[in-house]
Amino acid sequence: MSTVVLDGAHIVTVDAVGSEFADGHLVVTDNRITAVGPGRPRDVPADARHVDASGCLITPGLVNTHHHLYQWITRGLAVDATLFGWLTTLYPVWGRIDADLVHTAASGGLTWLAKTGCTTTTDHHYVFPHDGGDVLHAEIAAAQRVGLRFHPTRGSMDLGQSKGGLPPDNVVEDIDAILAATEAAVDAYHDTSFDAMLRIGVAPCSPFSVTGDLLKQTADLARSKGVRMHTHLCETLDEEAFCQDRFGCSPVEYVESLGWLGPDVWLAHAVHLSDAAIATLAATGTSVAHCPTSNARLGAGICRSRDLRDAGVSVGLGVDGAASNEACSMLEEARHALLFARARGGPQELTVRHALEMATMGGAQVLGRADEIGSLQVGKLADLAVWRLDTLAHIDIADPVAALVLGAPPPLDLLMVNGRTIVEKDRLSTIDEDALAREVGTAARALSERAGAR
Ligand SMILES: [Zn+2]
Repeated sequence: MSTVVLDGAHIVTVDAVGSEFADGHLVVTDNRITAVGPGRPRDVPADARHVDASGCLITPGLVNTHHHLYQWITRGLAVDATLFGWLTTLYPVWGRIDADLVHTAASGGLTWLAKTGCTTTTDHHYVFPHDGGDVLHAEIAAAQRVGLRFHPTRGSMDLGQSKGGLPPDNVVEDIDAILAATEAAVDAYHDTSFDAMLRIGVAPCSPFSVTGDLLKQTADLARSKGVRMHTHLCETLDEEAFCQDRFGCSPVEYVESLGWLGPDVWLAHAVHLSDAAIATLAATGTSVAHCPTSNARLGAGICRSRDLRDAGVSVGLGVDGAASNEACSMLEEARHALLFARARGGPQELTVRHALEMATMGGAQVLGRADEIGSLQVGKLADLAVWRLDTLAHIDIADPVAALVLGAPPPLDLLMVNGRTIVEKDRLSTIDEDALAREVGTAARALSERAGAR
């Protein structure tokens, strides 16, 4: 048994009653939290590792609920385009990816998430070139290399341009191949255990890139396998117009008719929602991955996160893909969620603690892991971040949560995932970051040459 004792820190547990300890301790035994409270711990084993966390804030590890990791090597393109313009620029580039490039891109994206406080992330991978190899396995191997808890989804597109969809035909797949590959991915990788480091979801891409048949059949498949379902919805007004033109209803009405709402479904974005749509999401227990930076980068709009929360919808935060959010920091999502909510609705719209809660417990709820992660409580898994707040950037800010959410990104003294230290003093412990940076640069150049994009 290994024990780590952290003390001297301000601890924000994000439990149901908002417990905080101004000078507190936290004990980790193997991969679980075994004590959390004020002052110093009692009954510490003699061989325990002691971490003096004075001057630091300890929070639950951040939980990212929407991403496209392969985009880490296609950042900075179509920087002034709308979603549809950006997608049509990038689809041909993405159509040239393969397993090696995805492994490198995902390693870069996951490393950056770790360095910015994230301990659990999902990924929505929906581009499977015919000659690209096993790209899903490639990103799973990257998560194991970096050390994050990983919830990848087997995404898909089957509605190419020739059938009225947005993506070119050469990046979409056949429905039978999608269903077979999705089932195989769940069978190969999905781990239902309490401390699972890997769980699979099912994720057809969006109303304008998949058929209604695929939505219906993937819902049946996911429910027969007991795995969660994810898709993009209500991201832009273009999507709203597409659904009204093609199906004669709103995106929420459309997916509801295909079985795509429920407590096992989480939707990325949910920006353009009527009051009726919010009521429908609440009534069905559907949850939302709010991606404020990507929505702003693409000029899509601002999610009604306060209204969703008031209605009882679980809301987590997501960085979205690196090609529409070059920063990909969950801490930045918490800050932007707060700033955009207030820009839209006034200073009472979202507190700093609610923003942190969305980035942690909200994300755990969205991914179906509320019993295991998302808060610092005895019995839960040891996923936590130790932020240094006694440097020039934050020393004069009395409230540590205000310092974290409103201030500059603090130094990350330590990041623990499943009891294992992944980041120490801002450096990744699991892989050589400088070598990874060179690997990412080489992969990005290779892809751009292959695609003739730059
Ligand atoms: Zn996305």
